[in-house]
Amino acid sequence: MSTAYDSGLDPSIMAPVFARPGEADSAPRFQLGADPMAAETAYQVVRDEAMLDGNARLNLATFVGTWMDDHANRLYTESFDKNAIDKDEYPQTAAVETYGWRTLADLWHSPDPAGAIGTSTIGSSEACMLGGLALKRRWQQRQRAAGRPTDKPNLVMSSAVQVCWEKFCNYWDVEPRRVPISLDHKVMDGTDLDKYIDENTIGVVAILGVTYTGMYEPVAQIAAALDRIEAATGLDIQIHVDGASGGMIAPFLQPDLIWDFRLPRVASINTSGHKYGLVYPGLGWVVWREASLLPEDLIFRVSYLGGDMPTFALNFSRPGAQVLLQYYAFLRLGRKGFEATQGATAAVARHLADRIGAMGPFELWNDGSDIPVFAWSLREPNSRLWTLYDLSDRLRMRGWLIPAYPMPADLEDLTVQRIVVRNGLGMDLADRLLEDMAADVAYLDSLATPLPDAAGHPAFHH
Ligand SMILES: *Cc1c(COP(=O)(O)O)cnc(C)c1O
Repeated sequence: MSTAYDSGLDPSIMAPVFARPGEADSAPRFQLGADPMAAETAYQVVRDEAMLDGNARLNLATFVGTWMDDHANRLYTESFDKNAIDKDEYPQTAAVETYGWRTLADLWHSPDPAGAIGTSTIGSSEACMLGGLALKRRWQQRQRAAGRPTDKPNLVMSSAVQVCWEKFCNYWDVEPRRVPISLDHKVMDGTDLDKYIDENTIGVVAILGVTYTGMYEPVAQIAAALDRIEAATGLDIQIHVDGASGGMIAPFLQPDLIWDFRLPRVASINTSGHKYGLVYPGLGWVVWREASLLPEDLIFRVSYLGGDMPTFALNFSRPGAQVLLQYYAFLRLGRKGFEATQGATAAVARHLADRIGAMGPFELWNDGSDIPVFAWSLREPNSRLWTLYDLSDRLRMRGWLIPAYPMPADLEDLTVQRIVVRNGLGMDLADRLLEDMAADVAYLDSLATPLPDAAGHPAFHH
């Protein structure tokens, strides 16, 4: 990134001056220094860089876990040296990984959790890639068996998918078919789905917790639309549910919502252990309803580490500690603990949504009753002389990170602002936020209010 500011200093030199005896007073920034640096100095330099980052607890932009308890922290420091791929060297971590996805298969109502298959990943992005790859490979096998071409696969999804699905389509040469969201169809709900589907459709992505707004896509309704399409055309199209956030909310807060393996059309589901799985970054999970849905030729058997371990992953090495942390969270909380934790988070989201909706200038897009995430826009017609970007800036001055951004294609003229409520944002902190927001709205309104000039005529000073 370039910046307009020029300090006149050489940007390639950093100058930590801690006056430690015998130490150089500068070091190159973009090259290795010739000599070692004292550990204290190196530590201080890195810490000082990171200090300028935002405060993670006030970061209401991210879905990713920023807090675990002391026992989890202890476990983390005791296990950060484990490489998840060394399954033969760390067989217990590998076993715990299996407990993890088996638990999720059960939580998501797999008809036969023992016959399901799954894996941990570095996050939902990798998990979605794996889910997408399995869809694509199964489609290729089907096409080849029928003597049909395999050169034009497409994947049907909402225009409001997370960027990982754009990446999947780009990296693996799959045509993305985006169903636009609109004011009438705020999420992909199965309407007109037949216009997007043909024999080259590898699958449909349904999002449980749309990243832009936090709303659930009605997976059962999408499945029913696909049932009708199958009845009319014979095309049996399966669903991958992107439950990056909702996969760890719906089982506890909306247990009667049918979105998971209870729907026969749902072939695979991913979630982010590091979102509402309540673990530090980076951990994701993906589970297939049954082992036969994961084509055998995608699985690698790595023998040079000593054993014969099947793996399906994009990465080779990655941290194993998060897998242990997920198991800790499962044991520590149990079903009731997850219900209580996610329930408290949801109550904060609804409180914030209520109050923000009642402030006057804002129109809620949704109320945080799916995942604890909600978005709002400025009420139309809008005569205000400030935008949500201005409000976001004002809040940032107080440490709150609450982004404003345009909605996806077809609604890109609509700017929304979004809050992601996570474990760690309690009611007290939420009320401080509401106070700050009310003060900032009053301030922005005052800037945009005509002030009388000397002659008593209104004049704008904005
Ligand atoms: C966050 C998110 C992802 C990506 O997950 P990571 O764990 O950050 O890789 C994918 N899909 C949805 C719906 C998300 O919200």
